[in-house]
Amino acid sequence: MNVDLTPEQDQLRDAVRTLGRRYGHSYFVAKAKSGEHTTELWHEAGQLGYLGVNIPIEYGGGGGGITELAIVCEELAAAGCPLLLLVVSPAIAATVLNKHGTEEQRKRHLPGLADGSQKIVFAITEPEAGSNFHRLGTVARRDGDDWLLSGRKCYISGVDEAQHVLVVARTEDASTGRLKPALFLVPTDAPGLERSKLNMEILSPENQFLLYLDDVRLPADALVGESLEAGLPALFSGLNPERITVAAMGAGTGRYAIERASAYTATRKVWGGRSIGSHQGVAHPLAHAAVQVELARLMIHKAATLYDAGRDLEAGVAGNMAKYAAGEAAALAVDTAVQALGGAGMTTEYGVATLLGAVRAGRIAPVSREMILNFVAQHVLGQDKSY
Ligand SMILES: Cc1cc2nc3c(=O)[nH]c(=O)nc-3n(C[C@H](O)[C@H](O)[C@H](O)COP(=O)(O)OP(=O)(O)OC[C@H]3O[C@@H](n4cnc5c(N)ncnc54)[C@H](O)[C@@H]3O)c2cc1C
Repeated sequence: MNVDLTPEQDQLRDAVRTLGRRYGHSYFVAKAKSGEHTTELWHEAGQLGYLGVNIPIEYGGGGGGITELAIVCEELAAAGCPLLLLVVSPAIAATVLNKHGTEEQRKRHLPGLADGSQKIVFAITEPEAGSNFHRLGTVARRDGDDWLLSGRKCYISGVDEAQHVLVVARTEDASTGRLKPALFLVPTDAPGLERSKLNMEILSPENQFLLYLDDVRLPADALVGESLEAGLPALFSGLNPERITVAAMGAGTGRYAIERASAYTATRKVWGGRSIGSHQGVAHPLAHAAVQVELARLMIHKAATLYDAGRDLEAGVAGNMAKYAAGEAAALAVDTAVQALGGAGMTTEYGVATLLGAVRAGRIAPVSREMILNFVAQHVLGQDKSY
């Protein structure tokens, strides 16, 4: 593994950083507080090609991989703009459609995802199933050539901004109780699809929703892929990109918080001539958090490199570890930064406590730290499954 980025990746990093800093955390917070979305940033990122970096050139993208998309996620977060929808729309939905969609689905959706004019969000979580995807209760039934979808989904991000939801359902014949998923592209204005916004304690311009699907009628070509057999591989194909990009967002958020706090502690003086950062009780926690963030970044780079090399199984282990490490590091970094800033840490102006909810959620979603530890215990350490 090469620890250096290519010159093109370096340029991408610099360019995204410049864009992110032009908007900055105060823009992100203002949008969140007014109940608006980061539409301007999203569209500009799309026009500049950053949202489609991982989408093939023939569908309007940049032809890169998850390494490039992780750079975009990390640098926007490092500028104070952690955009969760980067994880669902270009990382999950674009990967699933590119790898397992029909040619018609690729042509219809990928150019819009690449330029930011279209968003596709992702719905797998259900109230009764939670972390146990084998219990999914959303059912797809055949009705002539059409499909009828019924079920409930929860915590689904960005439904109010998207044109489609990529819904994970089960086909009706999966009566054995074994997971036999099928993915459907459901227009967000489809009759029978209702949503209600959840009140979340996260300061974010992106919202979470409960979704109710009541016999939502879909044409045959709403099924992702040529046949029902595409379902399971399609579902799994979204997991590694999801873990890697959400980890990158966490690492970027951690970098942002540490940078804000270090700048403050290096200049703040309350004991004569010395800065508060000269006291190891202040500096060491920040240094410790910086080490954790950097370790997470290394694992993210490894996971993205393995994924882009087509080594999916190894990328699965590294991606899960990267997500775990980055989730913990981001939460530690933001909490440490708040402490180092003292009272200023709790103000909106200093822009650190504004991220507490988001980094806390990052230890739960899109996959919880416990489920990652289960994965590592079973697949790396060879332990039996307890559930
Ligand atoms: C901000 C946010 C955005 C989200 N966006 C989306 C989205 O866009 N699309 C989507 O589909 N979902 C989304 N989710 C849902 C998210 O993926 C789930 O919350 C997550 O997978 C956990 O499921 P749950 O909340 O049902 O928890 P549960 O499954 O009810 O688990 C509760 C707790 O028990 C632990 N636990 C459960 N089983 C085990 C076990 N076997 N061993 C050890 N511990 C266990 C969990 O780790 C967790 O700590 C989002 C959630 C949040 C908070």
